Amino acid sequence: MKWTSIKSKITTIKLEKAEIDWCPIELDSLENGAQNYPLILYPDAIRKKIMKHVQDQNVELGGLLVGSIVGCADSVEEILAIVVRDAIPSVDYESSAVSLTMSPKVWQSANSGLSAEMLVIGWYHSHPNLGAFFSCVDKKTQKDFFNNNYNLGLVIDPVREEEKWYIGAEAHEITESQVRTFGFGLCLD
Ligand SMILES: [Zn+2]
Repeated sequence: MKWTSIKSKITTIKLEKAEIDWCPIELDSLENGAQNYPLILYPDAIRKKIMKHVQDQNVELGGLLVGSIVGCADSVEEILAIVVRDAIPSVDYESSAVSLTMSPKVWQSANSGLSAEMLVIGWYHSHPNLGAFFSCVDKKTQKDFFNNNYNLGLVIDPVREEEKWYIGAEAHEITESQVRTFGFGLCLD
């Protein structure tokens, strides 16, 4: 499945709704104009799931990030936050210490059962002991497959315990202060 084929189904979750649905989520700060938007809300449980996946081996591993977009309006033009709500490990892949090719199956399994409010928001992969940065190949992957303004790219070095986030077709680096990791409970089904 081509990523762009699901574009039209995407809707954002309004801030008011997000405040009701996500109990202790610190959404207040989203309304503070001093913020650099969007914020990335990255629950600790998802980080643990990803780390458990990529820590296993000394080869590049990866998968897709599933989540929701919080916005002021229906359009995804003005995004306040991107909430990471699940990680789908790619179990069918070709991997070496320095490269990773994910099969289309991971897209299909990630997309099945998702809704307009819960969609594939990006991807993650590991760079064991290479440092967390986007390589030229990673930038091309981002541009080819994750080129919407809400698409995230997460790269993790589990050995050096580094992580970096990128966003959009041009893979702009997201600053550390934009990423909020905490153990909030999601009340949505
Ligand atoms: Zn890479």
